Amino acid sequence: SGQLFLSLLLLTALLGTFLYLFKTIKRQNQEAVLRKAFVNNMTHELKTPVATVMAAVEAIQRFVAKDDKVKMNKYLDLSKTELEHLNNMIERVLQLDVDETHRIRISKSEFDMIPLIHNCLELTTISATKKIRTAFDHADGKLLVMADEAHLKNVVSNLLDNAIKYSSDPAEIHIVLKADKDKIHLSISDRGKGIAPEHLPHIFAMFYRVPQGTLHEVKGFGLGLAYVKHVVEQHGGNITVGSELGKGSIFTIEIPKS
Ligand code: ADP
Repeated sequence: SGQLFLSLLLLTALLGTFLYLFKTIKRQNQEAVLRKAFVNNMTHELKTPVATVMAAVEAIQRFVAKDDKVKMNKYLDLSKTELEHLNNMIERVLQLDVDETHRIRISKSEFDMIPLIHNCLELTTISATKKIRTAFDHADGKLLVMADEAHLKNVVSNLLDNAIKYSSDPAEIHIVLKADKDKIHLSISDRGKGIAPEHLPHIFAMFYRVPQGTLHEVKGFGLGLAYVKHVVEQHGGNITVGSELGKGSIFTIEIPKS
């Protein structure tokens, strides 16, 4: 019976090892897909500033011909801001890195959440194919946070994109940003199609998409929310969703301030 016990022990150890290996490989694949989703998302966002600068340069050429220095300067400033933004994003793509456990690496710096959200709203509005009505509630002054600015920008953009994508025209979006002693709370709500209760527990899973009617097929890969959840959790935060079919949805993230 001693031998049987030893064999069982060995078998358990072997099984444990296999299970561990299996889990590791599965997780690594998931992280690779998430990284790809992040890069795809970035690529999409890189196109907006390029288009803006292109249009600005054309305008500058016209103002050069008219010798309109005031307008030339205005468009040069605009180009500079957009190029700085572009530069930031390119740097983030190049630096996109994962740690030893294959999770997206977070690099924190201190920044104000309020202009970040305004910026996301602006970018989303420019590229949206629908009319958008937004309300953004926040306290006066700054809301400083120590977090990964580029990833948080993506998080906010993803949630805004979804709020628009799954709404009719015009899309109505309400953003509330609050902070307490150690956390920030951000909620983004829409009055869109909503999510049925049976789908709600699955929407953060990779590749999960609520089946849509064939008539108004909405594009997507089911990766946005998985990425959002990953980034929020890498910050030690959490994300929750509330939704009612036909009424709308609310996504709330909480992130430690430091
Ligand atoms: P994608 O939008 O590319 O399908 P996501 O991971 O961003 O992928 O979202 C997963 C699913 O959750 C979507 O397919 C959609 O069915 C649902 N969903 C996400 N956000 C909303 C929203 N604001 N309103 C309604 N449904 C949503």
